[in-house]
Amino acid sequence: MSARNTPVHAGISRALGAIGIALCALLAACGRSAPDVMLVQTSIEVPPAPEPAPPQQPDNPMTIGPAAVDTTGGWLPDGTMLSPFDSANPILSQLDPALLQAVRSAAGLAGSQGVDIRVTSGWRSKGFQQRLFDDAVANYGSIAKAAEFVATPEVSKHVTGQAVDIGPAQADSWLIANGRQFGLCQIYANEIWHFELAVDEYGNCPPLRPNAAG
Ligand SMILES: [Zn+2]
Repeated sequence: MSARNTPVHAGISRALGAIGIALCALLAACGRSAPDVMLVQTSIEVPPAPEPAPPQQPDNPMTIGPAAVDTTGGWLPDGTMLSPFDSANPILSQLDPALLQAVRSAAGLAGSQGVDIRVTSGWRSKGFQQRLFDDAVANYGSIAKAAEFVATPEVSKHVTGQAVDIGPAQADSWLIANGRQFGLCQIYANEIWHFELAVDEYGNCPPLRPNAAG
């Protein structure tokens, strides 16, 4: 057994080692600028999780709030036609249920006679109708002229889900001739595709109006 391994020496050795570590730590601390304030973490308080916000349940699921304007609801790409039975599309699902049922019934009879009834437009958001009207004003050069072809959002029956546009032209002709028995009427002379539930108590359609402005 050598002298270096006596308990006394081992104790001194450990003490020196500890001092060395402390010195190293001190030197390391002095080697960089020490922070002015030493933050000492004593305990961690975990704040309670915030109450989850109640889910927004608007009365009308199509409402997107006052800060945003929906200018695309009811839009269909050019040339696209919907089956009247495509319930997933808001163009149809937002329609007056009685109107949708009438179109479906008419489509059933038309189909049995070889005529395919398709929907080219139905429910439209107010913003989308406004966009259509604004485009018409730009195209026709005046509000008065535009109103002959596109209704404003305030009066459009598409916005309230009470109008459908039907295509193709063969289907329009069929519906003009046969829609009355389903309550469906052409409304404007210059829009053979636009139909509303409009028969009177005797099942007759009202006289055609010249256009959306008349
Ligand atoms: Zn229309």
